[in-house]
Amino acid sequence: MQYDVIVAGGSFTGLSAAMQAARARRKVLVIDAGEPRNRFAEHSHGFLGQDGRSPSAILDEARRQLLAYPSARIQSGRANDAAVAANGFELRLDNGEAFGAARLVLATGVRDLLPEIPGLAGQWGRTVLHCPYCHGFEVAGGALSVLATGPLSMHQAELITDWGDVTLFANGLFEPDADQMRSLEKRNIRFEPAPVTELEEDGSGGLVVRLAGDRSAKVRAVFTAPRNEMASPLADQLGCAFNEGPLGRAIVVDDKQQTSVPGVFAAGDAARLMHNIAFSVAGGAMAGVAAHQSLVFG
Ligand SMILES: Cc1cc2nc3c(=O)[nH]c(=O)nc-3n(C[C@H](O)[C@H](O)[C@H](O)COP(=O)(O)OP(=O)(O)OC[C@H]3O[C@@H](n4cnc5c(N)ncnc54)[C@H](O)[C@@H]3O)c2cc1C
Repeated sequence: MQYDVIVAGGSFTGLSAAMQAARARRKVLVIDAGEPRNRFAEHSHGFLGQDGRSPSAILDEARRQLLAYPSARIQSGRANDAAVAANGFELRLDNGEAFGAARLVLATGVRDLLPEIPGLAGQWGRTVLHCPYCHGFEVAGGALSVLATGPLSMHQAELITDWGDVTLFANGLFEPDADQMRSLEKRNIRFEPAPVTELEEDGSGGLVVRLAGDRSAKVRAVFTAPRNEMASPLADQLGCAFNEGPLGRAIVVDDKQQTSVPGVFAAGDAARLMHNIAFSVAGGAMAGVAAHQSLVFG
């Protein structure tokens, strides 16, 4: 079936893009595998008008509002293959179904590559956190920590001091130089070089961080900055250009969310180095408007 616009990924970015195309009365198909990045968190924060709601409640309402437009459709499934076709582009799903469109919006997000420490993955989005603007307020005021994933974690530790008393667990990954040590001391950040062997719930909402050498520390939360990777192969298959960031790649886009491949737009976590819902929704809206205008003026 042929559409004006196909949006790959139907979370915050994709639904926002599709909303603009649907309001322009264009036939728009959203293909979504149903795994938004923040599905591990009970509550979402910092997105205006939706603060404290669950991610799934926000997305359910967005889907309901989008589907009120007669030219919008949502298809569950994973788009595994993208290719240039006679009338634009073709996307093929994991069940073999294929859909065509004149324009594509890539809104498939990124996947987090969590540090492999026993007990960590089960706490992701609960007491193991990546973004203080999303979850810092809720855990503020006590003993906090940063689990290093590389030298850039110095910067994360310095930032987190605005939310509590910070221990930087280097996890054997790096040794601060004299200047960096002075900077940590200036901000009263404790530096712990030993490898972290396990994280355990402490029974009162916090965590016990177990260290090599049979030592441990109690903290309210662990912040960490995992590396991430594209959640879908679509941008690579289409030949989109990428930027390399400190934690992973992002699709190169211009200020209209146009990628290096004409007719392919991208937004949200997949096309930015700094990630949150408000940025994603804004980028998605721009991509939807730009995809529509490119149909009118292109
Ligand atoms: C634990 C955690 C908590 C967070 N909390 C907050 C918060 O409180 N506030 C905040 O502002 N931000 C928060 N964030 C960041 C926020 O989740 C992201 O910025 C946001 O989800 C990005 O939206 P997106 O639509 O670009 O990507 P996603 O929300 O990740 O959605 C991508 C969608 O595309 C689908 N998809 C992927 N590949 C394919 C494919 N091949 N075919 C079809 N569909 C596909 C996925 O299944 C998913 O549904 C949090 C992140 C994490 C990890």
